[in-house]
Amino acid sequence: MADGWRTRFNQHRSRRHKYVYGHGDQACCDPLGRVLVPIGSRVSDLSDKDARERYPHLAAMPAYVLQSTERIEKQEWFAAAKRRATNHGKGRKPGRMPRFQSRKHGDSRFVCWFNGGRNATYQQTGRRAGLVIIRGQNPSAAPDGTRRWSLQIRVRHTQQVREYTSVAVNLTRREVAFTSPVAARDHQRSGRSVGIDVGVANTVATSAGSMHSLPDLSNHAADVVRHQKRMAKSRVVARREGRDFHTSARYRAHREAAAKAAAAAANVRIDWAHKLATALVNEHDLIGLEDLRLSNLTRKGKNKRSLNRLMLNAGLGRLRSFVEYKGAAAGIPVVAVNPRNTSRRCRACRHVAAENRESQAIFRCKACGHRAHADTNAAGNILDAAREAVASGAWTTASSTGSAAKTKQAQAGRARAMNRKPAAPWGRPLTAHQR
Ligand SMILES: [Zn+2]
Repeated sequence: MADGWRTRFNQHRSRRHKYVYGHGDQACCDPLGRVLVPIGSRVSDLSDKDARERYPHLAAMPAYVLQSTERIEKQEWFAAAKRRATNHGKGRKPGRMPRFQSRKHGDSRFVCWFNGGRNATYQQTGRRAGLVIIRGQNPSAAPDGTRRWSLQIRVRHTQQVREYTSVAVNLTRREVAFTSPVAARDHQRSGRSVGIDVGVANTVATSAGSMHSLPDLSNHAADVVRHQKRMAKSRVVARREGRDFHTSARYRAHREAAAKAAAAAANVRIDWAHKLATALVNEHDLIGLEDLRLSNLTRKGKNKRSLNRLMLNAGLGRLRSFVEYKGAAAGIPVVAVNPRNTSRRCRACRHVAAENRESQAIFRCKACGHRAHADTNAAGNILDAAREAVASGAWTTASSTGSAAKTKQAQAGRARAMNRKPAAPWGRPLTAHQR
């Protein structure tokens, strides 16, 4: 199934094009001297039906598995195009466009749409155990006359399986991921609002006066650097001895260890951001944030480019996006405000002066003598600006009721799926997690 999924994915990918420069032949080039060519050697424009007929190993694949390849290929391709444009705009290395899925190097995986319970249904079989069933039909009947087949994947889950739209099975990592729409959170109104200031000293300050420090990732960063240094050494030695460093087992081990340490740091960061964002959204009815696009410009150059610092900065950006989507799910306004002067304005009398800020931590107003922690004062200003934006109508609540009908349908399908009798367990269970 994973092979078939990859085949179909690559067929879709083969329709993508790239620019090639300096072809010489001016007739076919655009004014920039480049020409569009397909990324692979062969272009396949088969429909799902034709592909089934042409390639026998696709013939028995369920339609909802085959269909998923087109959308996932497209998502991945355009996400990369967007990422490259962003990186290019910020003067960073753009990075590569994705290539074909590799049989040798990539994970063995496939995705199946749920589509309101039509395939990839899930049954709970125990407190932490369940069964994902994917059904299909063979092109010709077996000797006993049956055409239908079903694949049953036993999973052990760490959290309740919510309503989902598709199931991604990764056989290499032994993981099953359910893709769920963001669940609506029931929000208890507390009457409180908060402004959040992201400080240069790696802290998140709230207008209520609390500080939240990012988790210390220096050990992870040191691990990454240590393994990268060993990789560099291994490259030097390989060059001296005239071999290819890629084939060295030690090099590969260090590369994997570096990736593992970086992934561990990312997990710590994501967990921290999720917890803080959840707490902020649960406890408040209005959240004000700095508009990061603007604050990046004003604070440029203040950050040391150490690996640890880069990791922490990535955590701060994520916190903001988590607060935004969790806030939207809870139906509370999350307002991004212009950070201009927020760290220099006095919250008490609104006097703006650079001298108001005595040091990194202390704010004392030259006009009225108001004293506060500098970050708390800035967070307060952000909250005031957010309140003004809401009061003046510059910020309006976006409604997200469009998919209510679809959600109902999915719920009905899920209920049907849940009522089916579980079949016999199969193989060692895979672990499931929510996306
Ligand atoms: Zn003042």
